[in-house]
This record gives sequence, structure tokens and C-alpha cells, in this order.
Amino acid sequence: MKIWNSNPAWPWPCDEEIAKYLDVPDYYLAGYEEVRGFLRGLHKGRIESAGKSAGGRDLTVVYCGPDAPERTLCVTGGTHGTEVEGVAAVVNTIRVLDCGSDLRGQAWPALTEVARRVGFYLMPFFNPDAAARAVVKSYVGMPFEVVNHLHVGFWKNGRTLDRKRVFGPWTPESDLTGKLDRVGYLGARYNDAGADINRPCSRTEATAVETRQMLEYLRQRRVDCYLDMHSHSTDPWLGICPPEHTSGNHGDLVKLQQLTREKTVQAGGPDLKLVVKGTRTWFNSHFFPANLGIYALTYEEKAGFKGNFPEETPPEEIWLANVYNGMRTILGLAQALLEVPSPWS
Ligand SMILES: [Zn+2]
Repeated sequence: MKIWNSNPAWPWPCDEEIAKYLDVPDYYLAGYEEVRGFLRGLHKGRIESAGKSAGGRDLTVVYCGPDAPERTLCVTGGTHGTEVEGVAAVVNTIRVLDCGSDLRGQAWPALTEVARRVGFYLMPFFNPDAAARAVVKSYVGMPFEVVNHLHVGFWKNGRTLDRKRVFGPWTPESDLTGKLDRVGYLGARYNDAGADINRPCSRTEATAVETRQMLEYLRQRRVDCYLDMHSHSTDPWLGICPPEHTSGNHGDLVKLQQLTREKTVQAGGPDLKLVVKGTRTWFNSHFFPANLGIYALTYEEKAGFKGNFPEETPPEEIWLANVYNGMRTILGLAQALLEVPSPWS
């Protein structure tokens, strides 16, 4: 998509050839501006808003599905700005439900079919501030040190932010509020106010304005299930919160997770490793069930950066796997959702 390139530069002196990470196939639509353009051209998908990011960007959600759905599913990509695999999967899912085929022209009859009963709230960017900050569109083949520098962010002195601050459970040190003047690059996890976007402080409190508005959005629409899409370096897995972190029925959540695994395999997707997270850290996918009793799952894909796939794998194969694994998991989850009770019933 060279037409969209605006000659971006690395936010620090980096020897990697940046063009390599900008030239992506048309269907790998994950850049912030391109996706905004794509959303303006929808036919059937209904554009909604869950509010505004800390940086004033719209929290755009696309609703696709019947007027009176039997179940509803909300899927978010781009919680972490460098994890564009989820964005591409969400965008292609929107494309299928909007006009019958993905951006490669492939039809997904099972997905079209399930969308007659399940309503999909699809949000390409949970963290649009980080998406707008991103300098590249693909991380396929990128050395991990480079991805990490972009993901974690760094101070003006060039040092990467402390990993404990960024990846651990929330502490008063987790957010960068009041310290933004010392930051050289905010990375992929923070909103423009410096809140670590996937680290609620507790069952009842979240510093990220995106998470607080999303809670209200899910509540108002009585959304049954929330799926948050990530990527890193393990084989694809599907995580749920521990029983202590939901006010809903944890047994039903476990059942939903197991059914999703089965149906994702039937859909030709990956054999997802099932994970139950511990109680130490609050994620958005724990915060929403804790407050609303709804189902929530975290999906994590194997990212395309260097070292994750065998060296000789063609990039095209990685882009395809990243998009289609995610889409098949979304499909499996939507089908599974019809077999568990609505948490609102
Ligand atoms: Zn992530």
C-alpha cells in the first residue's frame, strides 16, 4: 500500500530499513489512517462510538448483525499498538460481515451464517492513540529488539521504560501521568495521557479513560462477551480470568473457552492453548467480567517478528496466518457463544 506511505521515520536512530515494514499486502489493513478510511466506506456495518481516547480520538466500533441478536460479542484489536495482527483480523471480519468476503475476496459462509444470530461489536483500535503513534504497518521479520523498543517506549535519554512498570500488575508507578515531558517515545501500550491501557488498578478502578468508557458501552448494550486480541511469541492461546475476577458464572466461562477451542479447530483455525490467568494482575478482560459478570477472553497470536517463525517462511504466509487464525478464533467464539447462556439472563 505504497500509496498511503507518508515517509515515516523511526523515533530513534535505527539501522533497519523502514520501507520493509510499510509495504504490506492490501488485505493486511492495520494502519490507523487506512483503517479510518476503510470504515468510512462501509455498506451495512453501523458505526458507533464508545467515546474518546485520552488524545481525543474516536473509540469507533462497528456493529454488524441482526436487530435482535440472540447473543452479542465485542472484539477489540490494537489494545497494544504494535500488535497489528488483531487489527487486521478485526478489519477483515468487518469486511466479511459488511459485504460477504474478506479483503482478499474470500467468502466466509460460516461467519456470515453465525452473524444472522450473533451481533458483532467490532473495534479495530481499543487504543487509537498508540495506533496513531505507530510508524510502521507490519512487524513481520523485524528483530525483537526493534519491536520491543517500539512496544515498550523509551525516555528522552534513550533508555527503554522499566519492564516492571510496563508489564507488571498496576502500581502507582505504572502510569506516566506527570512524567510525559521526560518521555522520548510513548510506545504501544500507553494512551496519550500516559495511562497503561490494559492495567486496571483494581476491580473497580481503571486509570485509562478508554477502559472506563468501554465498561459503560458494554453495560449499556448488555454485551455478552468481550474478546481482546493480542500477539507475542507463543503459539496461539485463549485466556480467561480466574473465578475471583468475575461476578458472573465462571463455570460457564470455562465451558465457553473449551467450546471455542473445539469450534476454532473445526473452522480450520489453530488448536488454542487454554489458559486461566492468576489473580495478581487486572487486565481489561478481567475488569469487565468483574463489573458486569459478562464473559471475556484474551486471544494471543504468534506475532510475525523475527524468531517466531522459521527463518525461511515467506512473509505472505505469516501475514495470512496472523489474519486467518484470528478470524477463525472469532468465528469459533461466536458459534460457541450460542451454546452458553447469556450472562444477562
Ligand atoms: Zn498485548
